Amino acid sequence: MTVAPAPSHESVLNAMSVDVEDYFHVSVFDGIVPRSTWGDMESRVCRNTERLLDIFDEYTVRSTFFVLGWVAERHPHLVRTIVQRGHEVASHGYAHRLVYDQTPATFREDVRRAKAIIEDAGGCAAGGYRAPSYSITSRSLWALDILIEEGHWYDASIFPIRHDRYGIPVSPREPFYVQRRAGALMEVPGSTVRIGPLNLPVGGGGYFRILPYAWTRWGIARLNHVEKQAAVFYLHPWEIDPEQPRLQAGWLGRFRHYRNLAKTEGRLRTLLTDFTFGTVGALLSTRAQVTSTGQLVPLALPYLW
Ligand SMILES: [Zn+2]
Repeated sequence: MTVAPAPSHESVLNAMSVDVEDYFHVSVFDGIVPRSTWGDMESRVCRNTERLLDIFDEYTVRSTFFVLGWVAERHPHLVRTIVQRGHEVASHGYAHRLVYDQTPATFREDVRRAKAIIEDAGGCAAGGYRAPSYSITSRSLWALDILIEEGHWYDASIFPIRHDRYGIPVSPREPFYVQRRAGALMEVPGSTVRIGPLNLPVGGGGYFRILPYAWTRWGIARLNHVEKQAAVFYLHPWEIDPEQPRLQAGWLGRFRHYRNLAKTEGRLRTLLTDFTFGTVGALLSTRAQVTSTGQLVPLALPYLW
């Protein structure tokens, strides 16, 4: 394959993010690996995350790491290492339960527990949150009130697309300020390109691994240079681990999880060469500030909900 010259990208800082979880935490394996057996599984999250840290060092990239509370509880040194190596830590919840499958009370308990564990391990604030499988949808918007009440100032859980398990297709496509009953927070949507009436994902995960890299490069270049928007990219430590144990799931689940694992690290290196990345916090710093008391002060208001 011929590689085109890297696009010029000096003016746009994109956000890099990692959902720090092990291969058996993924929603597709819900019911195949019960939570009660997680502790018996071979853990590979530390070595895979440390590998990502080494790669980010090589390319001088700072990232946001949304850490699963269950992982932070068992591997607090990993959270501390992420912070010490100059990255941002945020929360991926505690038990990797889909938001719309929880009651507001269990969701509150989950995010409160995760935030406390991550902050204790990292020795710093963790004011960002991303839900498992982008599971804040139109039927779980109540979660935003709970996130605000529990001290989060940004959320990255809403994908403005149609998908079988998540998405709010009419939601704004760039970071926006949300005013809720409980207060305010910044919402950082998953990245899409708009083609006709459709928003198509370009921000990582299975779309990065399964589709040709040319799709991601075209999409992020379009966002940066045509729409003058930043992209928010995401990946998981298990995505650069082709040696991980194979778990049984339906064919679609297996396809989504295992396809092209051996290619992801190489693609990530190309991505880090082609575009400029920083933390989600850095992306939001031109749009909002957080006071020492945790108060969110918007500097720009692209949208209000
Ligand atoms: Zn996850």
